[in-house]
Amino acid sequence: MPRQRPIKLRCPICKKPVKSADADFPFCSERCRLIDLGKWASGAYVISSPVNDAEEAIAERSDSEDES
Ligand SMILES: [Zn+2]
Repeated sequence: MPRQRPIKLRCPICKKPVKSADADFPFCSERCRLIDLGKWASGAYVISSPVNDAEEAIAERSDSEDES
């Protein structure tokens, strides 16, 4: 192959092609970057709350079992 092909990258949000030189890389625009940030923030919130609830429920159960 005589020429190296540039790696084609796509915005993970809207799937538009992006260049690694773009300011908002790997996103095509600030808008998509903010959308991705929101996904991570909401995802972390959704994941953390059930885990905390389960840990509290288990702790309460083992406490009562130990006392009785
Ligand atoms: Zn995009």
